[in-house]
Formats: sequence, structure tokens, C-alpha cells
Amino acid sequence: MKEIICMIFGHSLNKSSARNARIKEYKCSCCQKSFTQDGYGEIVILDSFWKQNNENLRASFGYAF
Ligand SMILES: [Zn+2]
Repeated sequence: MKEIICMIFGHSLNKSSARNARIKEYKCSCCQKSFTQDGYGEIVILDSFWKQNNENLRASFGYAF
């Protein structure tokens, strides 16, 4: 039922990743789903594609900074 609340009222996103300020990951305190921000600043569900994408970003930032 919690997911229906999220569908109606929107997710209650809390920042879940403080490891890298450039990679924004969020978790919904209501339905416990994870989200991230794509290159356009849109909130998207953190699926395996985005997890891998963020890991790649972390790796490249690690070398650059
Ligand atoms: Zn939610």
C-alpha cells in the first residue's frame, strides 16, 4: 500500500549517499526504493543500469580528484 501513497503524494526522498557529492542517490522513506539523478537532473529509479553508471562515475572521480 505504501507504493500507492508514493504514487499519489510522491516519494519522500532522503539523500542516501554522502560518499560523493557529485553523485546523488536518494532513498524513499516510505516505500524504501532507491533513486538517483540522471544527467538531466531528473530523478530516476536506481536500477542495475544506474548502479553501474554511478560506480563508473565514482571510479573516474577517484582518479580525477
Ligand atoms: Zn516511495
